[in-house]
Amino acid sequence: MDLVELVRQAGVVGAGGAGFPTHVKLNAEAEYLIINAAECEPLLQTDQFLMRERTAELIGGILLTKAQVKARKAVIAVKGKYAREVACLKETIARLEADVEIHDLQNFYPAGDEQMTVFEVTGRSVPPGGIPLNVGCVVSNVMTMINVFEASQNQPVTDKYVSILGEVKEPRLIRVPLGTPFEDCLAAAGGTTISDYCIIRGGPMMGGMVSKDQLPGMTITKTDGALIVIPADHYLVTRATETEAQVLNRAKTCIQCGFCTEQCPRYLIGHPLHPHKMMKAVKYAEEINESHKEALLCCGCGVCEMYSCPMGISPRKVNLYIAGKLREKGIRYQHDGSEIIARDGREFRKVPPTRLVSRLDLNDYDHQPLHEFREVIMDKVSISLRQHIGASSEAVVSAGDTVVKGQLIGATPEGQLGSMIHASINGQVVEVNERQVVIARG
Ligand code: SF4
Ligand code: SF4
Repeated sequence: MDLVELVRQAGVVGAGGAGFPTHVKLNAEAEYLIINAAECEPLLQTDQFLMRERTAELIGGILLTKAQVKARKAVIAVKGKYAREVACLKETIARLEADVEIHDLQNFYPAGDEQMTVFEVTGRSVPPGGIPLNVGCVVSNVMTMINVFEASQNQPVTDKYVSILGEVKEPRLIRVPLGTPFEDCLAAAGGTTISDYCIIRGGPMMGGMVSKDQLPGMTITKTDGALIVIPADHYLVTRATETEAQVLNRAKTCIQCGFCTEQCPRYLIGHPLHPHKMMKAVKYAEEINESHKEALLCCGCGVCEMYSCPMGISPRKVNLYIAGKLREKGIRYQHDGSEIIARDGREFRKVPPTRLVSRLDLNDYDHQPLHEFREVIMDKVSISLRQHIGASSEAVVSAGDTVVKGQLIGATPEGQLGSMIHASINGQVVEVNERQVVIARG
């Protein structure tokens, strides 16, 4: 079986983003394979752990993928400040005599945005509305490469490494079976230190906000990498829970200073995205049409709303609102083929993570010392059938079936984009519905 098929069968999806099926990405040829090891979201520590503790599998996955996509170069883009991790990578690359380079990424946010990483490594701007392959690059991340290596050994994706941070008694990195309830993840970190809290699912800039009420029933998927507990009255909760009406109303206070555009990472690599113009469109209730299609270029990094705007407005959410209207009208972004040139001054407008952490009011949780790594054993898991971009998987087991860890329980519908799902523990299937498969140990 070739690597693409092994990766498809193993259910590997992009572990750090939206969960794009990896076998589709591998079915391409590119000049560069770039591994995004920036861990650019504030507070997160998961990729750093993996670079130290799973180095051989990481380099193994990179070499397999490099050969698969016929890349001339494989480059790990990692911040120089991660000195221990860089030392581990260099030692393993030398020991394995692997043709893999390390690119010293500057410490800025969002260094790990796919298109920023491509620009930093190659100097090439991905065309607006395009993908890295348009400029000869395939980009993946640390955990995905480890999963590719395991897929080559016939090991499907069944577990996830997750950082549990913030207001927990014992901040730590854990490895859990897919389908582990969030509540059990918090318990593995000693429980919360406060009773009234919310959870950031992912990073503070691009992650989702989960209230305590929403917690029951939420379980770990292939794309989870961190749960950060913060007080329910934290600034980030207030911002995340603004209604669309509040966002649009506040947009009327825009003073057109242009800071959001001047610091927008996508604008800075040359894309025609001008968030201040989108604010104007909303402020003056313009009819949303083709002339606003640049809103579709926003990657949702949040620099504009969390760092740039002096008025506390959310250009990111306004872009989302406009993009929704454009999609309703069937308007897509089509690049006109013109040359994309990075803006002058880009180097000086990069956002320093320490200042970002301060603005997010997260200083208390920055660089939290971690307790010992823990492998969490679960007696019951609820495994989502949708952990990826594309169609939901269809259950191939029924209540009452006995399953072993690694056994296929959800398959991609015929002819559709999707991903395979596997049992993450040994046990008996106790429930199957359209959303999930529940397995309990006997
Ligand atoms: S969220 Fe804001 S800063 Fe980020 S890409 Fe979108 S408009 Fe630019
Ligand atoms: S930074 Fe804020 S106030 Fe300035 S143009 Fe952008 S949205 Fe308006």
